[in-house]
Amino acid sequence: MFVGVHRGIIKRDSQERRPIGQRLAAIITQFNLILQIFDVIPIQNATETHWSTELAQAIKSPAELWPLLGLTEQDLPAAHKAMASFKMLVPRPFVSRMEFGNVNDPLLKQVLADDIEMLPVAGYSKDPLDEGNHNPQKAIVHKYERRILVITTGTCAVNCRYCFRRHFPYGDNQLAQKEWDSVIDYLKDHPEVNEVILSGGDPLMLKDSQLSQHIARLNDLPQLKRLRIHSRLPVVIPSRINDELLAWVSQSRLDVVLVLHSNHAHEIDQSIADKVALLKRAGVTVLNQGVLLRGVNDSVEAQVNLSEALFAAGILPYYMFTFDPIEGGAHFDISIEAAQQLMGQVAQKLPGYLMPKLAKEIPGEPAKTVLAPRL
Ligand SMILES: *Cc1c(COP(=O)(O)O)cnc(C)c1O
Repeated sequence: MFVGVHRGIIKRDSQERRPIGQRLAAIITQFNLILQIFDVIPIQNATETHWSTELAQAIKSPAELWPLLGLTEQDLPAAHKAMASFKMLVPRPFVSRMEFGNVNDPLLKQVLADDIEMLPVAGYSKDPLDEGNHNPQKAIVHKYERRILVITTGTCAVNCRYCFRRHFPYGDNQLAQKEWDSVIDYLKDHPEVNEVILSGGDPLMLKDSQLSQHIARLNDLPQLKRLRIHSRLPVVIPSRINDELLAWVSQSRLDVVLVLHSNHAHEIDQSIADKVALLKRAGVTVLNQGVLLRGVNDSVEAQVNLSEALFAAGILPYYMFTFDPIEGGAHFDISIEAAQQLMGQVAQKLPGYLMPKLAKEIPGEPAKTVLAPRL
């Protein structure tokens, strides 16, 4: 805001010599500025690329990545079969945070297709969380009391190779209007539910015009207290947090919680911190959940740096999940014992409020199972 205020100051003597058109424009600028200061209209960021453009320009093959990262074909693994099973998709703002020339970059590892995914490994399945059995109707996963998870869309802005829903039977890409009707009916039939979690896919893949309509209907259900959004989009494309989004968030009667998904400190930069500041001004609570991934964040240093980077950007760590045994992701897995030992060491270096809860989702349990760090 202060940059805006500064830009809006017009020196009096230069203004006097200007033609009338320019002087009028200056007056309008100053009027806008006053409205912005009093939060009547949002501060526009005219130079920002629209998130849908960023999405359209996302990387879709390893060949597009090599030149951007200074790598060669020989550096990267074969990936044709893996890409046929689960497309590669990486937005450029995320690529820009990868280290040039580093084949083992922790951000690259999360998104680079690799035919190693195609090797069958005993114990790894297509639906490790047994979500198929808790799908009372299309798009709703109701496993825990008082909150339901709504699969709003099957698509994401980034395809993470370890995704536990990479084989989820999404069917149609997006919830149709009549399916939203049935979500509302389901909530009315379950008056004990007081929180709706928008998940996916990534719910922020929906247009703001659609989201604001759906949320207006949720606002009308007196039983609801909170709206939770689980999204990785603002991490990979920060411009997703735009004025339209801030408008429906601010207008909602519900307390809004945004749970971001990031796994490594390098994913968090100033562009995200700026957006988090806007979200917090709009009253949003911003948390992060991550997954423990071999070769990405399974070191004390990586975990400490992630929590520190999140906090510096205004985000509190919430969960750190152990790996769900998804088919295709075995090479990311670390044992529960190793995870508990790692988090035990991390706990010695961080204040309690920066320690994410180490958790595992065990099918059939009534809540996430929290695992104690081993000290
Ligand atoms: C993880 C999850 C939730 C949310 O659990 P919290 O502990 O409240 O964060 C809700 N529903 C389903 C199906 C989930 O997998």
